[in-house]
Amino acid sequence: MNGDPIKLISKLAELIKAECIYWNENIEPYEINRDKIITELLLKEKRKVYTFLDQLLVNPVSIKTNNHEPYKVYGPFYRKWIDIINKTNIANNNSIKISRTPEKFRGVNKRELSLIKNSDLNYCITKKNKYICDLLSSNRFKDNNLCPCKPGESESIKQLNFFINLGVINSYDKARDIPSLESTSNLSAALSLGTISCRAVWNGAQKSKNMAPNEYQINSIDTWIKELAWREFYQNALINFPDLEKGPYRKKWLDFQWQNRPDWLDAWENGLTGIPIVDAAMRQLKHSGWMHNRCRMIVASFLVKDLLIDWRLGELFFMKSLVDGDLASNNGGWQWSASSGMDPKPMRIFNPFRQASKFDEDGNYIRKWIPELSHVSTPNLLSSEINLAERNGYPKPIINHKNQTSIFKELYSNIK
Ligand SMILES: Cc1cc2nc3c(=O)[nH]c(=O)nc-3n(C[C@H](O)[C@H](O)[C@H](O)COP(=O)(O)OP(=O)(O)OC[C@H]3O[C@@H](n4cnc5c(N)ncnc54)[C@H](O)[C@@H]3O)c2cc1C
Repeated sequence: MNGDPIKLISKLAELIKAECIYWNENIEPYEINRDKIITELLLKEKRKVYTFLDQLLVNPVSIKTNNHEPYKVYGPFYRKWIDIINKTNIANNNSIKISRTPEKFRGVNKRELSLIKNSDLNYCITKKNKYICDLLSSNRFKDNNLCPCKPGESESIKQLNFFINLGVINSYDKARDIPSLESTSNLSAALSLGTISCRAVWNGAQKSKNMAPNEYQINSIDTWIKELAWREFYQNALINFPDLEKGPYRKKWLDFQWQNRPDWLDAWENGLTGIPIVDAAMRQLKHSGWMHNRCRMIVASFLVKDLLIDWRLGELFFMKSLVDGDLASNNGGWQWSASSGMDPKPMRIFNPFRQASKFDEDGNYIRKWIPELSHVSTPNLLSSEINLAERNGYPKPIINHKNQTSIFKELYSNIK
């Protein structure tokens, strides 16, 4: 079945005479509201509803400051989060969060069960299969080996095992920032879509920690666990401050004079800004549906602080293009980069040339995604000082980083 869940879940429940309906809760504002309506409908029809919290390791209700307020800063949030995990048997705990039973639950008797027509069920199954086939044949994963995230539960488990058993996790601390290496878990789509459980991921990290022979490796595993905590931090932020979905946490940003030039936005989206590290990253996104974290930070900073384009346009484009597109993490990442979020030290401007020199020092990442520049010397590639004869049609930089960031600072001073 394909369509509006508010209408269809109740119909399907009726069709198969479902006594109980189980699902995992979602934390996004639209889904919370949708599930509330569905629950009410099902309860009215005298069915039982059980929901579980499977999306996060720690129930957001228990992560509060000593004043019972939500955390706004990652550091203290992380300390509380890890403390709760260490004190509880989180790894195996998937406790039912809500259990609602209508007052007079009647159940389905044998006679009623026998009345369910096989043709109805077959219709459902055939429809469902057709829908899944359509989805698979149109989806971006198909025959696309460029995307490091793989679809399905068994593939997600393989990815986790690869990351843990081959020891990739043990060198995560240093290698995670180098976009030309395959040094991160690539589990973001699986975690976002739910094809892997966050408890399985946590257990994997604990297993590696028990086997890690030295402090560097233990630190690496802890660094990775801190990334899982970032995911939960942003989800908690969205639960506690649902308005984040609509705009900046720091309201003064509503007055910022964005320039929003459509031709610059177009160049950014298509990897044609003339700044190789930015274009390589945007082309990775375009061709694979995924982008390395370091590069997400570089291109986000560039859109906001060099091109002076409203970060919400970047957020939207990421959501449309990423296979791991996730409202909370994406919004959190963009607000962090734009300096409009909860970050206590928000004002940072990335210099794309310095970022390239530091994290792609041999130019391997740039050469992979911008093949027309593969012959250019590494220093010229990193600084974007490429002469016309060597450009092969690749554009000149559309902006001057120094000039643009001074305009940005001036505009920012107007809203301070
Ligand atoms: C502007 C911007 C937009 C982003 N949009 C998304 C998004 O839509 N969906 C998404 O899942 N991540 C997003 N991120 C976070 C991060 O870039 C990805 O989670 C990460 O690159 C995924 O690669 P991985 O699975 O190999 O991560 P690993 O490095 O192996 O980390 C393990 C897991 O931790 C979580 N994680 C890691 N880093 C972060 C982070 N900074 N914030 C939140 N969770 C994190 C992810 O679930 C990830 O799979 C965004 C970051 C920025 C700066």
